[in-house]
Amino acid sequence: MKKLIQFKNIVKDFDGKLVLKGINLDIYENEFVTLLGPSGCGKTTLLRILGGFLTQTEGQVLFDGQEITKVPPYKREINTVFQKYALFPHMNVYNNIAFGLKIKKEPKDIIEQKVKRMLKLVNLEEYADRNVTEMSGGQQQRVAIARALVNEPSVLLLDEPLGALDLKLRKEMQQELKKIQQEVGITFIYVTHDQEEALTMSDKIVVMKDGEIQQIGTPTDIYNEPVNQYVANFIGESNIIDGVMQEDYLVIFEDKKFKCVDFGFAPNEKVDVVIRPEDLDIVPRTDGKLKGIVKSVLFKGVHYETIVETKVGTSITVKMMVSDDRPVYNESANEKISANDFYLDVEDVEKLDEG
Ligand code: ATP
Repeated sequence: MKKLIQFKNIVKDFDGKLVLKGINLDIYENEFVTLLGPSGCGKTTLLRILGGFLTQTEGQVLFDGQEITKVPPYKREINTVFQKYALFPHMNVYNNIAFGLKIKKEPKDIIEQKVKRMLKLVNLEEYADRNVTEMSGGQQQRVAIARALVNEPSVLLLDEPLGALDLKLRKEMQQELKKIQQEVGITFIYVTHDQEEALTMSDKIVVMKDGEIQQIGTPTDIYNEPVNQYVANFIGESNIIDGVMQEDYLVIFEDKKFKCVDFGFAPNEKVDVVIRPEDLDIVPRTDGKLKGIVKSVLFKGVHYETIVETKVGTSITVKMMVSDDRPVYNESANEKISANDFYLDVEDVEKLDEG
């Protein structure tokens, strides 16, 4: 795959406040890349620098190998879709999509051909004559996407485009956006603070915090191999437990030893052990590896969420799928169970074997 965009040591300072602290990031052709992080971490600022609406304080932005810092926004092969659709309210759907092509004075038949293709792509063929103010939020956002794509940019920037939609519609649009990206085969750079959205759609996720990149990787990389506590907590749920390395053993809960692959930690080094709630299970006492007391059980539809207090006093969360062959405990939510009979099973925890 070809490298399309390179951010090289991008720093942005707003009146003495460092908002981007040296961003290095490569984006390839046809990738769906998501910038993910909490409000204020600098995602939009990075997007606006790429769009040409802001200039970085330091560093370079390369597009197809060429420095583009001095190229004005309208000359960049980049279009943007915002959370607020910014459609022309007095125009119908067709004219909203056709607007940019008319400005460029493209021939009428070409405009018609291109707009029809876009209407089909975003599933709005029947709505060409509808005034945009008479459409739902999801439909309006699809018009905005069609309008941004009709000029055939190489890159589409999407800044929280689904933020104003309700949850159900947002999920539908996530699927649709991914499909559209695959159909048009261009690079999408997507900004969100919603981790589930990032996991669902992206080829690559860039996790940001306070103007810095924490981790870059595929959704599975980021989920399964978070590089630090911040990423582990931000993406999915995590139990973070104190551990100590001893030779080739990892010790948790004071005396539970697990054989461990060589992670390169020093002997007796204190470490954070991240265990996903769904990697734990609660089993009868004879099969278990760690002892704990079940403090609460919540029925969540597809899974039970169980809080277990371990013998060192830490509470950990266990997620177990609801299934018929699970006779282990009473299903009524919130019921306190005297659970000396229930043990945590960490067999699924990657790379760990009980020693
Ligand atoms: P959100 O999800 O809330 O949009 P974000 O991660 O996109 O957050 P940015 O919009 O990039 O964050 O803003 C990063 C920081 O820069 C914020 O603290 C913001 O207040 C500040 N900032 C953004 N634009 C300007 C500006 N024009 N002048 C001064 N400060 C700014």
